[in-house]
Amino acid sequence: MSLLEVTGVTVRYGGIVAVRHVSLTVERGEVVALLGANGAGKSSLLNGLVGLVRGTEGSVRLDGTELGRRPVFRRARAGLVQVPEGRAIVGSLTVEENLLLGAYTRTGRAERDAALRAAYELFPVLHERRSVGGAMLSGGEQQMLAVGRALAGAPRCVVMDEPSVGLSPLMVETVFTKVRAMADTGVGVLLAEQNVPASLAIADRVYVLQRGEVVRSGTAAEIEADDAVMEAFLGAGAVEVGA
Ligand code: ATP
Repeated sequence: MSLLEVTGVTVRYGGIVAVRHVSLTVERGEVVALLGANGAGKSSLLNGLVGLVRGTEGSVRLDGTELGRRPVFRRARAGLVQVPEGRAIVGSLTVEENLLLGAYTRTGRAERDAALRAAYELFPVLHERRSVGGAMLSGGEQQMLAVGRALAGAPRCVVMDEPSVGLSPLMVETVFTKVRAMADTGVGVLLAEQNVPASLAIADRVYVLQRGEVVRSGTAAEIEADDAVMEAFLGAGAVEVGA
């Protein structure tokens, strides 16, 4: 049984179909990249999976439990946690307070302490800056805080929406290395991205989305080696991967 098993998911906004009949899986400890151009439907799919878009059809199973009809907080409590597009850090709260927001599904002092420990272990810089206001952080630190906040929710599977946006190449590498390390602890990661090279560098498998449909899937190595896929679906620049 896969950790995350998505079957036939369709996301509509009224009459607009943004995602059509998408099926995918994420295993424990895997980074799965969801690649596609601007408007391909990546955000819509992730928002549908975590329950943020009404009008989502299909099955979303986590560890065999059907979550498709549950509200967002119950999916989070079950272990399906999102790192939202744009990070959504609360600037007026400290780093630690932002992390505790991510632990909202966990009850009791001991659980909340464990949540903070998990985030600080992966990101020592957040511990150093725990009393600093969220608004004072650099873009890279804010993205680490967004990932740390997801981790504080004791996730089994984290879905991430374009964590590379607005970061320098060096900071993208730093953040993505941490994402890989998070997966290596057994958490599944579904990573929606337009940054193809950075994603392929840490992904185990890839799904390529175009106009709301999965048009290709394979291991990261297979996708990277397939010039036709790279050019047709992921932009000519993507062919430079590894160059
Ligand atoms: P991006 O990289 O820009 O975030 P994306 O791959 O995440 O792109 P989506 O944002 O999911 O793509 O958009 C997929 C399609 O759904 C687009 O045609 C978009 O215009 C449409 N769409 C997205 N959100 C809404 C909405 N709230 N109402 C109506 N249509 C929407």
